[in-house]
Amino acid sequence: MSKKQFKAESKKLLDLMINSIYTHKEIFLRELISNSSDALDKLYYQSLQSGDTGVKRGDFVIEIRPDKDSRTLTISDNGIGMTAEELEKDLGTIARSGSQSFKDDMLKDGDDADGSSQAAKAARATDIIGQFGVGFYSAFMVADDVQVTSRAYGQSEANIWESKGADGYSINPAARDENGTTIVLHLKEDTDDEKYSEYLEEYKIRELIRKYSDYVHYPIKMMVTKTRQVDDPNAEDGKRTESYQELDTLNSMEPIWKRQKSKVKPEDYNEYYKTKFMDYEDPAKVIRTSVEGVSSYTALLFIPGHVPYDYYTKQYEKGLQLYSSGVMIMERCKELLPDYFNFVKGLVDSQDLSLNISREMLQHDRQLKFIEKNLEKKIKKELAQWMKDDREGYEKFFANFGNQLKYGIYDNFGMNKDLLSDLILFTSSKEKKKVSLDEYIERMKEDQKYIYYAAGETVDKIEMLPQTKAAVDKGYEVLYFTDDIDEFSMRMMQNYKEKEFKSVADEDMSGGAEEDAEKKKQAEEDNKPVIDFIKETIGDKISDVIISMRLSDNPCCLSSKGEISLEMEKTLNRMPGAGGVKADRVLEINPESDVIKKLKATLEADDKDTSASYARLLYDQAVLLSGLEIDDPAGLAADINSLIGK
Ligand code: ADP
Repeated sequence: MSKKQFKAESKKLLDLMINSIYTHKEIFLRELISNSSDALDKLYYQSLQSGDTGVKRGDFVIEIRPDKDSRTLTISDNGIGMTAEELEKDLGTIARSGSQSFKDDMLKDGDDADGSSQAAKAARATDIIGQFGVGFYSAFMVADDVQVTSRAYGQSEANIWESKGADGYSINPAARDENGTTIVLHLKEDTDDEKYSEYLEEYKIRELIRKYSDYVHYPIKMMVTKTRQVDDPNAEDGKRTESYQELDTLNSMEPIWKRQKSKVKPEDYNEYYKTKFMDYEDPAKVIRTSVEGVSSYTALLFIPGHVPYDYYTKQYEKGLQLYSSGVMIMERCKELLPDYFNFVKGLVDSQDLSLNISREMLQHDRQLKFIEKNLEKKIKKELAQWMKDDREGYEKFFANFGNQLKYGIYDNFGMNKDLLSDLILFTSSKEKKKVSLDEYIERMKEDQKYIYYAAGETVDKIEMLPQTKAAVDKGYEVLYFTDDIDEFSMRMMQNYKEKEFKSVADEDMSGGAEEDAEKKKQAEEDNKPVIDFIKETIGDKISDVIISMRLSDNPCCLSSKGEISLEMEKTLNRMPGAGGVKADRVLEINPESDVIKKLKATLEADDKDTSASYARLLYDQAVLLSGLEIDDPAGLAADINSLIGK
């Protein structure tokens, strides 16, 4: 019997399981039962697809058999089974997709660059084992010998895979009466801390199945010993107690979403979510909704408590599981979720859907469209309510998935802006807290016409903008747009509840108060040579130079006019293949500032060189304040040095 070695990373995972100090080793049973349930699902799909009427769902069963004499626990199913190749491929490598992050994180050799020790890594690993489950290998947390006998559906031969742990595994021909898989675990010896023999006790097995696998929709059966009274003429009272064996179904099989709402505890939903959607953290929100009528359905939806590791990759796919009267007919139905709610996980169960519905049919299914529209409304309502009832929780959700809502506003030419715009939050200049647009409007100053915003990379950088200071000094609340998408989605909205958005960096914000109008006109006349000289010196990098009445301490700032703002210019130029986009730059100058006064004086003294240095310095500092790059850093240094030398 030839021994084969595990693939390197599988071996490490296996080592981790064998030496696990994790306290909830009991989850191995959940993992194995879940694999059996999947194997039954697979056989069922396959029979639907191929029109094979030989497969009877009513016969599907998962059986548990404890045997104290041989110290073994057997779990068997009559599902799809595995061929010898599949045994090799599936049990010789980690298959579970959800354990990708586990692989990435835990299976690197030696100490990481981040300095975390092996002990710290082991602690993190055990955490993940407990909450994630890592599938089949978890058997090695409790067993020192594992045998898997399997016969694939439609095949006559069976095979046995056996492993005692890290030193490898073997696969050999075997016998099995029907298709399916039987896993025999030889339990480890008991220690002071760990009583593995408990897993052979009926009460313990019942407890674990109720706790972790109650909703599995195939019967999980166990042969149990029962007693009954039978007539016995020889006995004193004419009766005697007799023991007999019977297969008991241990799980209720009732899907969690079909149970009476009052009977399901929040922990039950959380546990269900974690096992079914392979997350290690409780969901941030659970939504359960039922609709009765022309089209009836129940939906159980979850919003994850954190961003899935693959959320921002191409691999991430949105969708909900689709059930027809409790039977899963599709693992991921994209048609049920709009893109802007793509972070929602969960399922929809409807009795009105046909069992063998195909993908193509689904796209045109009116029933499905109806459900999607309803779910969209429901999710929206729940989010809005969440924002009201649990602000802290909502803000955390928003930090995770808020950008998706903003993209939703921008996407499809703003088609969904009305649905989404009251769900978004921005950091505000007031206390730097998050505000919604409704909250902003509610506390607008009486004479305030616009919703003011300022865009930049970070809150700190935005606050350094002279324009922001000017607006805040006037007592306006300013929304800080720190995400690339912010200005784009704002452009789609244009206004909110009839209040227009206005960037503080817009050139037409430069006017200051109305009573300054006269002063401004005067300043424009007085500084005409200054303005002309700057235009001439800076050239076509700017489209205008204007007098600004809003700059208290700063000599200048950069603003823009037209459709594209300075921030949008940055964003667009970061996109692949989209270089060369330019905002219309306007240099605002403060006639009261010393630099402008100096420039005016040097011009009057006909000192062209010094004047030009001042002009370039003004422009470059305005560019830097806006978070943009200057064209000629060496030139700036030369200008500074020459002016200091004067
Ligand atoms: P996962 O179930 O997440 O894919 P596992 O390590 O638990 O990861 O299982 C690996 C693979 O082995 C499964 O994907 C499945 O193909 C196969 N497998 C495990 N248990 C069974 C079973 N009882 N019947 C059929 N195939 C199984």
